[in-house]
Amino acid sequence: MRADVAVAGNGVLGLSLAVELKRRAPGLRVVLVGPASRPGGATAAAGAMLNCFAEVTDTTHRHPASRAKFAMARTALDAWPDWLAALGDGAGKGPSLASPGTFVVLGAQATATAVRNFDAVQEALKEHAEPHQEVQAADIPGLRPVPHERPLRALYLEREGAVDARAVLQSLETCGRRLGVTVTDGSTTHLLTAGGRCTGMRLDDGTEIAAGAVVVAAGTASGPLLDQLLPGRTPPMLHGTGCAVRTLRHTRPGFDRVIRTPTRSGACGMHLVPLGGGVEYLGATNVVSFAPPPGPRLGVTQFLLRFATDQFDTRLGMSAVQGWHYAGRPVPLDRFPLLGPTGIDGLYAATGTYRDGFHSSPVIARHLADTILDPGPLPELLAPFAPVRDPIETMTVEESIDLFVSDEVETAAEYGMRLPYFLDTEPIAARARSQAHEALERLDRPIALPPEILAAAHAAPPTHLRHLNTYLRTSPPTAGSVPSP
Ligand SMILES: Cc1cc2nc3c(=O)[nH]c(=O)nc-3n(C[C@H](O)[C@H](O)[C@H](O)COP(=O)(O)OP(=O)(O)OC[C@H]3O[C@@H](n4cnc5c(N)ncnc54)[C@H](O)[C@@H]3O)c2cc1C
Repeated sequence: MRADVAVAGNGVLGLSLAVELKRRAPGLRVVLVGPASRPGGATAAAGAMLNCFAEVTDTTHRHPASRAKFAMARTALDAWPDWLAALGDGAGKGPSLASPGTFVVLGAQATATAVRNFDAVQEALKEHAEPHQEVQAADIPGLRPVPHERPLRALYLEREGAVDARAVLQSLETCGRRLGVTVTDGSTTHLLTAGGRCTGMRLDDGTEIAAGAVVVAAGTASGPLLDQLLPGRTPPMLHGTGCAVRTLRHTRPGFDRVIRTPTRSGACGMHLVPLGGGVEYLGATNVVSFAPPPGPRLGVTQFLLRFATDQFDTRLGMSAVQGWHYAGRPVPLDRFPLLGPTGIDGLYAATGTYRDGFHSSPVIARHLADTILDPGPLPELLAPFAPVRDPIETMTVEESIDLFVSDEVETAAEYGMRLPYFLDTEPIAARARSQAHEALERLDRPIALPPEILAAAHAAPPTHLRHLNTYLRTSPPTAGSVPSP
């Protein structure tokens, strides 16, 4: 088989790119490869909140890469209405928003991080003159938390809603086929090379696709694929295991808008997405690990359900479970996406979008298509996310340890820790601090890692640790050393 562009991966990134390429260059031969059932694919499990400002944290504006990611999310916010309309049947009828508008609520028991992030959301809304309203908890239709979780503050973001990820995937695939994308059910096992450039891919059934450009967009499987040609050169890819549940309302009224908490450092915040007809999506857990886990962890899943009923609506307890969504978010070591040319001629990456890649997908597709169709200078928006790079460090190693420690203490409190008045949280902080140092001692050089990645490094199996250290050895050391405990 021959193609101009062959894409490995049939999630939202691979499909959006294939659609964008065919729209811009109808004569281009585009082949998209991925297993039809999408096992473990993040997109099919996503709550698909189209959130930009609701995702802001107190660190969003502190580092150029975080600012670039925010800029991408802002552009995506403007892009979604036209993108959805264009996915339609040619008469402008595309999949619609499952829910327009998002309430961000700050419960009475919110942690210090959640409070800071809520403030940061509000500041960003004002700074960018984004339409929003401060609302009272009593004004949020459907809200009935337990009394001690009642929101003290709430914002309504009218332009940020959600779509049904499964419906959008289906529309993207239908639209791609209509435009002439060749959709192939299978998996890419090998990237092919000749004369130092990537020339195509081999599939699990032995089929070879010769291609002028190959795009790796295989979610968590992208790491091993890129490693075939760039061993230890791209930030290692971790699994951000997420679990969510889809329920059917028994006790009305239920919600007609997305309701969510602010982002926490290791999680996207608790959220509920109304999907219509009384169906609600409750998400999502996030446990990050180097090796794919055998399944979602029972402990966090239990709390997902408790947080939803306690913080949003006790009547959810009467809802019927329709199904579970479970997948691995593709999480690069530094939590920033891998987008664009890889330095090997003909090989591109479109992956590593972690918690918010669904929202940014139309913009990522547009800019990647620019680069593939006209390989000139990299679009400004993609420049910070070059797939072959040193890890992006947004803080010092000492700050990353402090953040890990405060995060562990806050998580313990969120999960119900209650101490007598004569004890404080120091024993928990000390345990976390020593875990952080143990994790850093496993690394060949000190590096500032986000809290959930530091936890994953602490638990990383030896083969993954070796791979991580190979990557760290190829990127130059930063000043400083592991601080003593
Ligand atoms: C529970 C959960 C909730 C989320 N909520 C949101 C949200 O509200 N908003 C938001 O913006 N984002 C959200 N995300 C994140 C978002 O889903 C991801 O950032 C995004 O979907 C990643 O898309 P992708 O195409 O890169 O990867 P994936 O969707 O994982 O797609 C990769 C595809 O490649 C296929 N594949 C695997 N191996 C191969 C191979 N060897 N060859 C070919 N194909 C292969 C897989 O089957 C899969 O279909 C959430 C994620 C999860 C798990």
